[in-house]
Amino acid sequence: MIVVTGATGQLGRLVVEGLLEQVPADQVAVVVRSPEKAADLAARGVEVRTADYARPETLDGAFSAGDKVLLISGSEVGRRIDQHQAVIDAAAKAGVALLAYTSVLGGDLATFRLADEHHAAEAAIRASGLPFVLLRNGWYTENYTGAIAQALEHGAVQASAGEGRVASAPRADFAAAAVAVLTTEGHQNRAYELSGDTAWSFAEYAAEVAAQSGRPVAYRQLTPEQHLRVLLDAGLPQPLAETLVDVDAGIARGELAVSTGELSRLIGRPTTPLADAVRAALR
Ligand code: NDP
Repeated sequence: MIVVTGATGQLGRLVVEGLLEQVPADQVAVVVRSPEKAADLAARGVEVRTADYARPETLDGAFSAGDKVLLISGSEVGRRIDQHQAVIDAAAKAGVALLAYTSVLGGDLATFRLADEHHAAEAAIRASGLPFVLLRNGWYTENYTGAIAQALEHGAVQASAGEGRVASAPRADFAAAAVAVLTTEGHQNRAYELSGDTAWSFAEYAAEVAAQSGRPVAYRQLTPEQHLRVLLDAGLPQPLAETLVDVDAGIARGELAVSTGELSRLIGRPTTPLADAVRAALR
């Protein structure tokens, strides 16, 4: 079986769709905490297993010997070290054949706070002794295009990333890479640095949105303090706002600009350009 956790999330759904194009549904299982959200997958013949990363007892039976498992990192920032450890322990107990994990671009070289829980997960996976694949995903282009309406409204892309560049790719490209490692051989104990083929700056992103929308949009470069204030004024909780400002500091240091070409090699095509993602978001 190929087993995908977090399958009712945005990346997970794309991975499952990609898998179903390559393998019969009865060879795919999903591990989800809300089975009702996976009813459509069950109807298509996918086995739905219910488990919560936060409740280790529910993970008993989530995996079987020989499964190829994709652990999609959880979304509850600050609680993920124990959660991921519980999933890794369950996979090791079951004796899965492969544990793939969605980590962070750069691995230990990523020094922004959001990377800490990924460092812990990578270490736990190595310590488990399981055959593994680390999918060190760079930033989703949707992190930015998802806020395109606000950029148009304010006439500005606001960030504290300085001149930093981002080698982003849409979720669909990262999902295709996950499908590739789950359906082809030769990935055991590899760490892939996955990111877009071309890194863009925030000024270039703003210019692209302006050109395609025909409206004035510029990069408003903020200090970290100004950025924090903007996010708090927009209603974000303090910890999330601080985390996002900290990510921008990482971008300013160049930590999300790394482009090795490994994503396009894995998926067998160039990554989706920023301009295409902007076009899709504006539609
Ligand atoms: P989503 O928030 O859409 O999906 C997260 C998935 O994790 C959901 O299916 C969610 O379940 C599941 N999940 C969260 N907590 C638990 C839990 N305690 N037990 C079981 N399942 C759980 O995120 P994306 O799909 O967009 O991204 C996938 C992951 O990538 C994120 O969770 C995060 O770790 C990371 N990420 C990466 C980014 C990047 O730019 N590279 C940006 C943002 C996140 P449910 O459907 O029930 O909510």
